[in-house]
Amino acid sequence: MKISVQTLKGKKLFRFEEPAHTFPMLTDLSESINCEFLSPVIISLDIYRVNDMYRAEGRIETSVRFQCSRCLEDFIHPLHADFALNFTSQPDTDPESLIQGEYEIKAEQAGLVIFRDDEIDLTESIQDQILMALPIQPLCREDCRGLCPQCGTNLNLGGCNCEKAVFNPKFQNLAGLEINKKKNR
Ligand SMILES: [Zn+2]
Ligand SMILES: [Zn+2]
Repeated sequence: MKISVQTLKGKKLFRFEEPAHTFPMLTDLSESINCEFLSPVIISLDIYRVNDMYRAEGRIETSVRFQCSRCLEDFIHPLHADFALNFTSQPDTDPESLIQGEYEIKAEQAGLVIFRDDEIDLTESIQDQILMALPIQPLCREDCRGLCPQCGTNLNLGGCNCEKAVFNPKFQNLAGLEINKKKNR
């Protein structure tokens, strides 16, 4: 996923279609949290020059299978994320010099991604955008009722017999009051 800036004039549209394994951290993630990228990642973006930097604006689309964090059922989550990234080229200094290090820190603080040799490699930046767009606590639906803590029934599919037996702590105090009244008589 590289864009050569040498021939770039005006605003140019790019479209990439990358398998999820292009992004090494997505592979790690799918192993650690049990999710699966079901379709390639489609990245469409406009890129143009603004003074000393290049601005890329675009959208990422893919679909991911997650396991719901409440009911543990698998579900498919269409993933869309808009992004805007600013790239700046490395100044011509010794890469080992202190000035170079300072420049890189300053550029990063300003939200700029540094590129080298007239070529912007988007892979790492796009990977970051995908990671940020993933839900921290995946839910099959906003109002997922989860599993019964006692019998493990999926409460989205219907009730279970434990439901009525669940004691509401709100009424515990009332029951106590009744007993105290009787004692006072
Ligand atoms: Zn769920
Ligand atoms: Zn139950």
